[in-house]
Order: sequence, then structure tokens, then C-alpha cells
Amino acid sequence: MKIYRTDQHPLPLPDGHRFPMIKYRLLYEAVHAFAAPLILEAPAASDAELSAAHTPDYLHKLATGTLSKAEERAIGLPWSAELVTRSRYSVGATLAACRTALLEGCGATLAGGTHHAYADRGSGFCVFNDSAVALKVLLAEGAIQRALVIDLDVHQGNGTAATLADRLALFTFSMHGLNNFPFQKETSDWDIELDDGTGDADYLATLAGTLPQLFTLAHPDLVIYLAGADCYAGDRLGKLALSKDGLARRDALVLDACARFGVPVALTMGGGYATPISDTVAIQAMTIQLAVNRFSR
Ligand SMILES: [Zn+2]
Repeated sequence: MKIYRTDQHPLPLPDGHRFPMIKYRLLYEAVHAFAAPLILEAPAASDAELSAAHTPDYLHKLATGTLSKAEERAIGLPWSAELVTRSRYSVGATLAACRTALLEGCGATLAGGTHHAYADRGSGFCVFNDSAVALKVLLAEGAIQRALVIDLDVHQGNGTAATLADRLALFTFSMHGLNNFPFQKETSDWDIELDDGTGDADYLATLAGTLPQLFTLAHPDLVIYLAGADCYAGDRLGKLALSKDGLARRDALVLDACARFGVPVALTMGGGYATPISDTVAIQAMTIQLAVNRFSR
């Protein structure tokens, strides 16, 4: 197993910005404490790789800083050269984690899960769609024939669903809050919508009941797992009520299913906006810990 970091490329954000940039540095430090030898610096995604899932027009606007105000507002982060650079490393980390997974059974990134980005626009703190780029690159290379995105971030993987809709071989699954962003949902290959306040028991029963069928339907060569920490009860944006233990059991269910069906898995982190942010970091570090215990001991 290998774990890719991107925190050396932080965003210069105005004071008080609601995007928790510090999370990436803190997560790196938490994971370093138990898995230092597994951590590598992520490569940056190339233009050719980004082009696998993004339009030339959008890539040009990002490169030249010519997004409209509305386009910039939809991303929720101010455009800067550093924003584009950081986003390139985030995609590169996910692609590297996928390549590692195909070789070793599991790879992880301490970022990624930018599932709100579309082919031609960013949204919801997401500039590029890392899952879509990685899977389209790997499919085009012939490294995979089929893949499955298991998106358990509390927000729907709308950009992923839309961007991968033209590839039948790439199956998108999203389990998310019905009453949460994005308010206009896309159609994944399989969506499950959860009511506000859904807790551990209902969540885990639904997931456990779904996973076997999902693997049978998708028959994947590779899984990308978006292990969003924003289903946590203490999340500012989540609206669900999972405990930290429930989230660890969620991760274990997914990793168990990948092992049972013999499918390599790449872990990406997705969202997490708890107060304090150390709760989000602890949840995401536990996700990595579970994978490390399973794949590198
Ligand atoms: Zn989210």
C-alpha cells in the first residue's frame, strides 16, 4: 500500500474562509504518526490526463484565470495559480492511488474526492473531478475494463455521475443526504438518498444490504471509494448523525466487500467540516488506519 500527500501545495485563502485547508496538513501529520514509510508525494496530473474528463475550454479558462465571476463563485474558492496547481496534485494523487491499488491491492490519497466538478465547470470546492479523470485515463490505457465508484461522502457525487455517464463500464454509486447540496441532483447508476438525522444503525444496514448487489452489477476491476467524513453527527454541513465508530464500521464494510470480491481499492477522502476540525481529521485518519492494517501488515 502507498499513501499520497498533497498538503505541500496549500491554498492561500482569505482569513475565515469556510474551506478547512488546514485539514490536509493535520491529516498528513496524523497519518505520518502510524504509516510514515507508506507516504509518498503525489505527482501532478498532466494536461493530457485532465483532458480525459475535462473540456479544453474549461482547462483554458483555469490556465489563464479567465473564469467568469459566476464560475468562480460556483467553485467557492477564489481563482489563483495556486488553486490550479493544488487541484492538479489532488487529481495526480488519486490517479497514483489507483495505479498503486491495481499493483498492490490498495492505494490512498490524503485528498481527492472532488466529486462536484463537471467536465466543463467546477462546483462546491471542486475544480477537477479526480475520480472521473483517473478512471477515464485508466480505461483509455486499457489498465481497467470496468470500475466502480462508491461515493459515501454525504453530498451526492453529481459531477462524477454526469462526467462518467458516457462510459457504461464505469459504474457510479452515491449514497447521500436527500436534503443536502447539490439541490439539483444528477442520476448516478445507483443513488440512495438518506433523510436528515440518519444514524449508524439505519446507515450501516442500508450499506451492508447494498454492497453485494453493487459488486455483482458493476463487476469492477477497480473501486474508487470516496470516504467522506461529512456524514459525521458533528459535521457543520452533513445533516446526518453517524458516530465516529459508525464511520469506522462503514469503512470496514466497504473494505471487506472489496476484499471479498477480490477488487483493488483506491481510497479518497472527500469532505469533512466538523467543529472542531480535529474530529474530521481523526475520522479520516481512522479510514487510512483501517486500510493500512488490512493491506500492509
Ligand atoms: Zn461532502
